Amino acid sequence: MATIETDYLVVGGGAAGMAFADSLITECGADVVIVDRRHRPGGHWNSAYPFVRLHQPSAFYGVNSMVLGSDTIDSEGPNAGLYERATAPAICQYFSRVLDEHLLASGRVRFLAMTDYAGDMRTEHHVVSRLTGRQADVVVRRKLVDARFLESSIPATHTPSFEVDPQVRFIPVNDLVNLADSGSGFTIVGAGKTAMDACVWLLEQGVDPGAIRWIRPRDAWLLDRKFQQPLKLLPALIEGVSLYLEAAAEADSEMAYRLATYFAVDGDESEALHWLRRAIYLGNENYPWFAKNPAWNRLHGHGDFERILEDLKKTYRRNQKNWKRLLEQAPQSSS
Ligand SMILES: Cc1cc2nc3c(=O)[nH]c(=O)nc-3n(C[C@H](O)[C@H](O)[C@H](O)COP(=O)(O)OP(=O)(O)OC[C@H]3O[C@@H](n4cnc5c(N)ncnc54)[C@H](O)[C@@H]3O)c2cc1C
Repeated sequence: MATIETDYLVVGGGAAGMAFADSLITECGADVVIVDRRHRPGGHWNSAYPFVRLHQPSAFYGVNSMVLGSDTIDSEGPNAGLYERATAPAICQYFSRVLDEHLLASGRVRFLAMTDYAGDMRTEHHVVSRLTGRQADVVVRRKLVDARFLESSIPATHTPSFEVDPQVRFIPVNDLVNLADSGSGFTIVGAGKTAMDACVWLLEQGVDPGAIRWIRPRDAWLLDRKFQQPLKLLPALIEGVSLYLEAAAEADSEMAYRLATYFAVDGDESEALHWLRRAIYLGNENYPWFAKNPAWNRLHGHGDFERILEDLKKTYRRNQKNWKRLLEQAPQSSS
């Protein structure tokens, strides 16, 4: 059996394995072997459904040494006004370029495509070619790196975990584009990006909304892409963070107090008092801290602030008395 020697054996040539190898090659003189059972790098993007795109701007994705895309702002379609989002073929092509132009070009990386890692992830490392069946032992001088932690289970490569009525025409999302005749409607199963993409794509193709049934086991937490923009549109990202913070402060007493303190330090008394009242309304009655927090020094002497503190002090004292009484009434432990 052949033997391969290397400093780092990276299992998985998806975004994670490629980004790790890319940084390693840039930062030090290590030798790296990447092993992947697919025919080229890029991981699950090689098996993606045809209408998928990155959900964030291309600029936010990929490896350090090479920019993905050309930082163009789209002028058409639902993404108009926002930074471009790469398609799956563009992402796969990009990772192939990273492999050819940076990793292989360094002379310190070997990419074993169509090859399974078959070791025990600790001391015994073997790889097996899916095409020839040939095996090799791998001697790892420094570290085995498992780059499969985020490996997704996708419909194109997995069988469903539920039963399907034989009367139903059941297809993975990848095959939607191959349909030759219409059925009585569409039932999309799943709550994530893939299911949402499938619904949106069908609507874009003119399918009647009434013909689409969407089964989702939960609701997803979605971020508005408008607020996830880099470069020239970075102010939108900051605006988005402010909006999230404000929404959190509306709902949470601690966040409300933090926002109030920010405005107190900033010298915006009216906003500071508004958010302080909100914090108290939501249940934050930490009078001792409110009274001595130095961030609020410049509001001492302000009529409204003093009245809020005075009211809070009374509630605080009342609560203290109640707690004392309750604790005195509580049965004493015998030990
Ligand atoms: C449809 C879809 C859309 C997504 N869209 C986005 C997005 O827009 N933005 C975003 O940030 N994230 C997105 N993600 C999340 C995605 O998981 C990450 O972006 C990233 O691509 C994951 O890379 P990975 O290297 O961790 O995993 P993968 O891409 O799954 O790569 C793991 C690799 O390990 C290989 N492998 C596994 N076991 C072995 C073995 N024993 N031997 C050899 N090789 C093995 C596999 O063949 C695979 O190529 C999306 C995920 C999916 C499924």
